[in-house]
Amino acid sequence: MFDLNTPEWFSKAPCIGEDRLFFSAHPSKRRMAVAKCTEECGNTEKCLQFALDNKMTQGVWGGKTGPELSRLLEADAYA
Ligand code: SF4
Repeated sequence: MFDLNTPEWFSKAPCIGEDRLFFSAHPSKRRMAVAKCTEECGNTEKCLQFALDNKMTQGVWGGKTGPELSRLLEADAYA
């Protein structure tokens, strides 16, 4: 994962240790990562806001892929 000052809830997230899934270039793996976010994580909304606040556009965060995060940032739709 990135070397960020991550929130406390992140330390127990289901994505911990899953970098190869969450940062995969393969669409099927990205879909699996998104499913993990939406089905197994209780902090999806907080994570999405964290990712947008930190302009994260690589990997899957908060149930969104990098391109989706980029579009949200460009649209400023999360404000
Ligand atoms: S929403 Fe996804 S990326 Fe964010 S902490 Fe949860 S499992 Fe990890």
